[in-house]
Amino acid sequence: MSDQKTHCGYVALVGAPNAGKSTLLNQLVGTKVSIVSPKVQTTRARVLGICLEGNAQVVFVDTPGIFSPKRRLDRAMVAAAWSGASDADIVVLLVDAKRGFDPDTRAIVEQFQKHNTKAVLAINKVDLVKKEKLLELTTVLNETGVVSETFMISALNGSGVSDLMEAVTKAMPEGPWLFPEDQLSDMPERMLAAEITREKLYLQLRQELPYRATVETESWEEKKDGSVRIGQMIFVERDSQKSIILGKNGSQIKALGAASRIELEEIFERRVHLFLFVKVRDKWGDDPERFKAMGLEFDA
Ligand code: GDP
Ligand code: MG
Repeated sequence: MSDQKTHCGYVALVGAPNAGKSTLLNQLVGTKVSIVSPKVQTTRARVLGICLEGNAQVVFVDTPGIFSPKRRLDRAMVAAAWSGASDADIVVLLVDAKRGFDPDTRAIVEQFQKHNTKAVLAINKVDLVKKEKLLELTTVLNETGVVSETFMISALNGSGVSDLMEAVTKAMPEGPWLFPEDQLSDMPERMLAAEITREKLYLQLRQELPYRATVETESWEEKKDGSVRIGQMIFVERDSQKSIILGKNGSQIKALGAASRIELEEIFERRVHLFLFVKVRDKWGDDPERFKAMGLEFDA
């Protein structure tokens, strides 16, 4: 290395719901720090993923998909997204190649135009789309005047990701590293553990599950043998939702707990004893405490 000075900065990942922001973040960091699901709006709060590239520490901010907010929870997520983008040194706009220049992406591009800012364009999911369509999409997006550079990537299989990484690394300003060198995320382990269980909820109960279910880690007990006992509460809004999550003779919650535990053991590299509970809490979407637990502003 010729340049011995350290560099450090923030890169905001913005894009329509489902564009692949969380998948890209996990791919960049090399481990799961943000949960992913085929359902839109899985990421609720702001999630950081931290990468070291030579002498640069690159801090990626995964934002909730930006969309037009109606309910309080949506507004809080949008506020978290824009605050992530405006604090960043560089913004990466992720566009789903299959969905193309859709209304969500248009709305985001208009915000960039309004604020006179530029973004690095990453056209994602190139594994799903023909070359001609990619070129067309690149042209259309570059005509908006907000694109500084374009990359074709597949966040899922990693193709093109190292070129993107190289480009954003170059944009990192000189400065001290903001995080310890082995830190990959700023999400507390308890919250990550809750997020993992929420991901399994989405994956196992796709249709039936209300997107408004939430999970909180209520207890975290270190055992002498190196294992950890984790207790989590799943909050739903109605009795009928509780029955769905429990399943016949508790079969559903058992499967949920098993899937979550396997992944928690992988991530934390230790044995995990996971205990899941379900509680009906009417209108948790209006409860400031639940927002705080997710790291969101209630009054956004
Ligand atoms: P986010 O809402 O922008 O965070 O999107 P996610 O990262 O949760 O991804 C949404 C869906 O797209 C998930 O089912 C991912 O597996 C899928 N996905 C993400 N990137 C790619 C990709 O490069 N190729 C393909 N085929 N699927 C992808
Ligand atoms: Mg996401």
